[in-house]
Amino acid sequence: MMRTVESAQSAQRALLRMVERLRGQGIRDEKVLDAMVRVPRQRFVEPGLAFSAYDDTPLPIGYQQTISQPFVVARMIEVLRSGRELGRTLEVGAGCGYQAAVLSFLATEVYAVERIRPLLDRARENLRPFRLANLRLKCADGSLGLPEAAPYDTIIVAAAAREVPLPLKEQLAPGGRMMIPLGAQAEQQLILVERHGNQYKESRFEAVRFVPLLSGIE
Ligand code: SAH
Repeated sequence: MMRTVESAQSAQRALLRMVERLRGQGIRDEKVLDAMVRVPRQRFVEPGLAFSAYDDTPLPIGYQQTISQPFVVARMIEVLRSGRELGRTLEVGAGCGYQAAVLSFLATEVYAVERIRPLLDRARENLRPFRLANLRLKCADGSLGLPEAAPYDTIIVAAAAREVPLPLKEQLAPGGRMMIPLGAQAEQQLILVERHGNQYKESRFEAVRFVPLLSGIE
């Protein structure tokens, strides 16, 4: 019992240190930092990796996939939120559900899709204790978007594409924003796509490293 309390306290300290580090790395949006304090990343990694849960690195989650790096999660959401609220949000590539949980504290509704069914099942398990009423998870090929709940004010893609999938552009609401890593495995960059009417403006951000956006479901 004592041990459990102690390890819960040290996990909480590690989480707070992670968030302070994000602040030091330049994340300024307090609401993003708050949301990250509310989502213990440790709950989304395998027990054997708990000791690295608060390091600023991607970690394996099985099926050759990874949980995203905290800085990149924070940065993408900060850019998407800059000067506005997230509104109705689509996440492509839910993985183990970590970023979906962070988003659900900031968006009105979150639709998170994942193409690997067993991974989505794990995300559901991980997310259950959070009781996030505004989050829906679905097994789907997110390169096609999720037409049934479109349009989205915000789209966040957690896997790298060679170009922006057209369905995702079309499913952005007027004034909507999307963050997506673009490029080949070794040289990806975060791209912000903003929709104004039927015009799309693209701006470039940090170099990143994501798993590839694949098609079909498994
Ligand atoms: N958002 C996750 C990151 C998971 S890694 C987190 O919070 O840590 C990216 C995920 O994208 C992988 O699980 C991969 O299976 C998924 N993915 C890749 N292509 C996809 C597609 N076309 N549709 C849905 N998910 C996809």
